Amino acid sequence: MSFVTRLQWFFKTRWLHYTAAIVLMATVNLLQTIPPKMIGNTIDDIQKGSLNAAELSHSVLLLIGLALGMYVLVYIWITTLFGNSVLLEKLLRGRFMAHLTRMKPSFFQRNSTGQLMALATNDILAIGNTAGYGVMTLVNTLVGASVVIITMISLIDYRLMLAALIPLPLLAVVISYLGGKVRVRFLAAQEAFGKMNEHALESISGIRVLRSYVQEKQDIAAFDGVTTGVMDRNREVSLLNALFQPLISLIVGISYSIGIGYGSYLVFHHEISLGQLISFNIYLGMLIWPMISFGEFINVLQRGNASADRVEKSLVQQPDLADPANPVHVDVPEMVEMRGLTFTYPAAEHPSLKDVSFTLARGGTLGVVGRTGSGKSTLLKQLLRQYPLAEKQLFIAGVPVEEILLDRVKQWVAYVPQEHLLLSKSIRDNIALGKPDATDEEIAKAVEMASFASDVALMPEGLGTIVGENGVMLSGGQKQRLAIARALLLDAEILAMDDSLSAVDARTESRILQHIRRERAGKTTFITTHRLSAVSHADWILVLDEGRVLEEGTHEQLMHFGGWYRKQWDRQQMEAGLQD
Ligand code: ATP
Ligand code: MG
Repeated sequence: MSFVTRLQWFFKTRWLHYTAAIVLMATVNLLQTIPPKMIGNTIDDIQKGSLNAAELSHSVLLLIGLALGMYVLVYIWITTLFGNSVLLEKLLRGRFMAHLTRMKPSFFQRNSTGQLMALATNDILAIGNTAGYGVMTLVNTLVGASVVIITMISLIDYRLMLAALIPLPLLAVVISYLGGKVRVRFLAAQEAFGKMNEHALESISGIRVLRSYVQEKQDIAAFDGVTTGVMDRNREVSLLNALFQPLISLIVGISYSIGIGYGSYLVFHHEISLGQLISFNIYLGMLIWPMISFGEFINVLQRGNASADRVEKSLVQQPDLADPANPVHVDVPEMVEMRGLTFTYPAAEHPSLKDVSFTLARGGTLGVVGRTGSGKSTLLKQLLRQYPLAEKQLFIAGVPVEEILLDRVKQWVAYVPQEHLLLSKSIRDNIALGKPDATDEEIAKAVEMASFASDVALMPEGLGTIVGENGVMLSGGQKQRLAIARALLLDAEILAMDDSLSAVDARTESRILQHIRRERAGKTTFITTHRLSAVSHADWILVLDEGRVLEEGTHEQLMHFGGWYRKQWDRQQMEAGLQD
């Protein structure tokens, strides 16, 4: 698809600006043909001896006036045209970001952060460049060259013009051949840039792990390999660009030789005047820029197209979950129910949940326990509607979840993920993420419920303390409690806590659970944990093993049953006793 069709939506809204810029550019091109003609005329006057002072000063003033006029026009078209290109970049980045926020985890599994960042920066820049600089070079080539050529024919001599332009078609052939290659090599360069981004991101975010495993040298060496790749790919692009430049000089050189050679012949035979020959050579010089422009245009267009390909490839990916065509309205999630739910991650071969069933009435608490990797987090994630599910396996208030609007379901659930995600903002902003207009009282209450208040009191600036990237300046337990406060602030119908108390001590854990039980009476809670004491109060407990329900029941029933739960409970009680 061509660049213009692809960006039609943009050109349509900005056509007035483009038209203005192009008209101004054309005007400047026209005006530019006047000075050479005046110079030629003056020389003819000198030769004829008919030049007088009044005429000369008139010409000089006119030249100065023209220069000033063109200065203003050029200023206006440059700001108009390049204003368009930065606007396009802004719009594209906005679209891209909006697209990313709609994508589900499987998309981010396929597209690394580094690659996405490369798209948002380098590629969108290349597209904007085509819509600005590219348009400029195109207009310069088409309008600039035709104006000069028409002037040559009408004011000087068409034979001289034809002769001098003989080498030009050669240029077009070579340029179109090189242009295709530029595109291929530019794609490779952008790809390499994405890889470099990815590596840098991973190294920086994992710097502490790298250091503790003494892998700095290896990582620097590996990064060196990646940057060498970027350098090589870019060098290959500039190698092609370098081929353009001398080629243009060569062709211009040939043109000049023909112009001077054949032109002198014509002057000698009185077909044209000396002044005309000089004007002609100045015009020939004015053709150089349109020719260079043409090369640049092909170059920039190929890059813009290559980048537009890359961005589009990412933009066309649809979220693998869509809203139902005929959504069923559910007011309150009276009940959450799984019926023989089996779930396989998009990239996985084996299911992570197999035939899981339970019913949890509103206000109830479901505990999910089991060995690591048994599917606890996977079970909670089903409530977040991030992955497509088979039909009629998960019900909310008796309605299959796929018949309810995605946003509706998401509004019900406050989720505390197993891995905390903090933004490098203040503690307050992090807590208020899901409810930016929360009052101070609401925040204070959430902080209190998460047993986070005494920690906040010790922070240098209290709630205003900036936590650093992903909360580097908080302890593991503090991060967990911040994440809990964030979820509690929403006071959502369903609270899903994924192993969210693993980094706090047993006493803090029981305090938080008490708060939750008291404040959330009548609302539904899901808790996954390795420490069974966190779910002993739950209304129902599932013990998962390799995605299947191994045991289930209340704490008492499971203790009585004497299986995995009982053994684990006894062991944990013994360990707790030893620690006290
Ligand atoms: P833990 O106690 O360590 O948190 P868990 O019980 O929460 O473990 P899950 O995270 O639910 O375990 O993982 C269950 C299984 O699903 C594991 O075998 C894991 O490898 C697999 N799995 C998890 N996430 C993905 C994913 N995004 N794609 C493919 N497989 C996954
Ligand atoms: Mg987990």
